Amino acid sequence: MKYISTRGRAPELAFSDALLAGLATDGGLYLPSRYPAIDVAELARWRTLPYADLAAEVIGKFVDDIPGETLLELCRRTYTAEVYGNGRPDSDCSLITPLRWLEPGLGLLELSNGPTLAFKDMAMQLLGALFEHVLARRGARLNVLGATSGDTGSAAEYAMRGRRGIEVFMLSPAGRMSPFQRAQMYSLQDPNIHNLAVKGVFDDCQDLVKAVAGDLPFRERHSIGTVNSINWGRVVAQVVYYVRGYLMATRSDDEKVSFAVPSGNFGNILSGWVAKQMGLPIDKLVLATNENDVLDEFFRTGRYRVRGSSETHATSSPSMDISKASNFERYIFDMIGRDSALLRELWWEIDTRGQFHLGGTPVWPTIQASGLVSGRSTHSDRLRTIAMVHDRYKVIVDPHTADGLKVALQNRDRSVPMICLETALPVKFAETIVEAIGVEPPRPAAFEGIEGRPQRCEAIAADAEALKDYIARHAC
Ligand SMILES: *Cc1c(COP(=O)(O)O)cnc(C)c1O
Repeated sequence: MKYISTRGRAPELAFSDALLAGLATDGGLYLPSRYPAIDVAELARWRTLPYADLAAEVIGKFVDDIPGETLLELCRRTYTAEVYGNGRPDSDCSLITPLRWLEPGLGLLELSNGPTLAFKDMAMQLLGALFEHVLARRGARLNVLGATSGDTGSAAEYAMRGRRGIEVFMLSPAGRMSPFQRAQMYSLQDPNIHNLAVKGVFDDCQDLVKAVAGDLPFRERHSIGTVNSINWGRVVAQVVYYVRGYLMATRSDDEKVSFAVPSGNFGNILSGWVAKQMGLPIDKLVLATNENDVLDEFFRTGRYRVRGSSETHATSSPSMDISKASNFERYIFDMIGRDSALLRELWWEIDTRGQFHLGGTPVWPTIQASGLVSGRSTHSDRLRTIAMVHDRYKVIVDPHTADGLKVALQNRDRSVPMICLETALPVKFAETIVEAIGVEPPRPAAFEGIEGRPQRCEAIAADAEALKDYIARHAC
């Protein structure tokens, strides 16, 4: 299986190389040259597999340079009942990522039982294991550089902590994260984790990462890598969520299921798109945005208009506050028949005019028939949904999952089960939960008193040279 860049001007790579590369050298994103198919016999066989074994089967279809037994072992070491099963053994395969039916035909796929209580853990933890394996085999090293407003950074740090051959440099805006998020990241004592608090906002952190990554000689010299969802390894690990959700919601393979996905960077829902291309019987993929509705605007009108950072609203579902959805490029690439020249033209339009418009063009009917639909949820929708779900089903959902549920309910077709992907546990966003229902969300025992633990973090100026200097001194 070969990986190609959406922009068509980078070398084709094997899985392991695409994993370490992250972004392609031509600025594009890697995708497999074709999607492997799931056949009916396979789906039937997968029904009884525990999560780890299912993950090895699904991901194995995209990997031909890591032996199957090795991949299975990495998955089994990653997806353990100790970490994901709330301590229950995974003898009954429903215990990792359980599906909770709120009512007949409306389910919640619980993906947030990992170390940082967000769905990103499931994919990020496997990415850490894959990095470590590939680096050890090559005698290589990786310095991971990232910026976070909260969730991605902590998921990445918990996935990479203590791993051989990896150092993590994570920039976060000083004083802008919640006390809980700050404690999650800064209380890690592993020497390979470097928390760098930047005097500025999230966009300043992001700009610093771009400035350092744009210095190619520096990037080469220190083998700088990324862990955001432009990394194909994260996308492929997330495909498993959909296969798992489908198998748990159905009894036979002639049934269909729809999924609702709270979306930011289009990473999670892109994995659903890949599952659908593989032949998983998905009816609709329902994309939910918050007030930052770049993607909803596109699916309604065909216009993709990215926003400047000053136009990006700070909302109560902050992990969906995006102005540009990086993974959207992979979906559009598929929609335009994988025509790299046309893709480069569209992204040139974004760079020069801030938008492109596909409504009324020959590809628009293809997009409309692709099974993706969208909707938008606002602060008051979010509060109302959290209150409704608590009242009606005695379940507390986090603000992002609430956005997903709100849009799911608008797009429900009674004859097809609708599964909403849970993206975080409510304790991470306690303030909004209290605003919605007046109750503090439950806190898992491992997080009791986390705000009181000693914290480790370096203050750093919003200056690329200062950052490079820090990395050069601490890189592996
Ligand atoms: C990352 C994240 C999202 C958005 O996911 P994408 O893959 O970027 O679309 C939504 N909710 C939460 C809680 C997240 O952490």
